[in-house]
Amino acid sequence: MIFRSFRVLLPSGIAYWTVLDSELRVVDAADEFLRHLRFSRDRAESTTESYAGAVALYLRWCGETGRAWAAGSRHLGMFMLWLKHAPKDPSSRPVLPGQGARQVRGPRRVNVVLAAVREFLKFNVSVGAAPAWVVDQLYEVGDGRDLPVEVRGEYGVPHGYAKVRHRLHEPDEPVDRATDEEIVALVRACRSARDRLIVLLMARAGIRRGELVGLRRADLHFVLDARPLGCPVPGSHLHVVRRDNINRASAKSRNSRAVPVDALLMQAHDQYVIERALQEEATDSDFLLVNLFRGRIGAPMRLGAINELLTSLSRRAGLERRIRPHQGRHGFADNVMAAGGQLDELAELLGHESPMSSQPYLHPSHERLRDAVERIPSPRLRLEGPHS
Ligand SMILES: [Zn+2]
Repeated sequence: MIFRSFRVLLPSGIAYWTVLDSELRVVDAADEFLRHLRFSRDRAESTTESYAGAVALYLRWCGETGRAWAAGSRHLGMFMLWLKHAPKDPSSRPVLPGQGARQVRGPRRVNVVLAAVREFLKFNVSVGAAPAWVVDQLYEVGDGRDLPVEVRGEYGVPHGYAKVRHRLHEPDEPVDRATDEEIVALVRACRSARDRLIVLLMARAGIRRGELVGLRRADLHFVLDARPLGCPVPGSHLHVVRRDNINRASAKSRNSRAVPVDALLMQAHDQYVIERALQEEATDSDFLLVNLFRGRIGAPMRLGAINELLTSLSRRAGLERRIRPHQGRHGFADNVMAAGGQLDELAELLGHESPMSSQPYLHPSHERLRDAVERIPSPRLRLEGPHS
């Protein structure tokens, strides 16, 4: 049985992802969950895409091993093992995990899939489509019966009393960032003001790829005082606002955020405004980043165009590797922390909904550790040599 995630575009223009079986029928249990995420919980389309992919994997494993999906929750440990090795293309032959089998998914990816599967199963328990014991397969639940109802979680699992049963250890890896040298090389390799602005928005404001192509011109408050525009945020900044866009861009976080920008970004933007004004077809679009050189001139840039741009810039700059969009954002985050930023500041700048998401940037460099020690005031202490 092959299960695939599938994008559904509703007549309203809003899209979400669902799961189809090999006969192209919608899998009801998955579809109800994914519609709940999109329409009741107001999660981004990209979130439903990633959940649908995870649920499709889980259903595929259940199918291959002859388990009903609720019963599969009893054997999530085996699902984890399968995940490590199952080919990404659902139509290729399953491989038996054994010595020498190539690992397809790393611990981080496995944990992301498991988190999505837990949400899928919990949701189905909450609507009565799966038996309550499924939740016990997911969590080690401490005795939370003495807790008031308010502190129990959405699905009746008490917060703080539930510990996830299945999770792989993720090795501490250094943040996968673009170095400052790489960013400088990319900017130098740009052949247009627009492309320079794109690189700098990622590397100096930490804007995600999806957020980048969704930016509207009105989101940029590149002025010292935005109060005449009806915005109380002081200083130059831009707003990252969640919308459902025609180019499938969507800000991932539910809350919009204001990101301060520096003089370099403002200058890059000024140069882009001049460049863009030369293209008459581009004058009407609200979108900040539009096609100026190829495709339909004036149309909003596609998500994929950002990757293509970075790939060709990396090549032109003679870099040894291809820089990807999130590496620019990681570089920004790492620089914020290296310059003494606090975790709450970083979470706000990056638009993280949970401070946990900012944790990977907490690996301080040796220089920062030394600074931290040297900042401690010296005590009035004189170390005397050994008495003679
Ligand atoms: Zn503003």
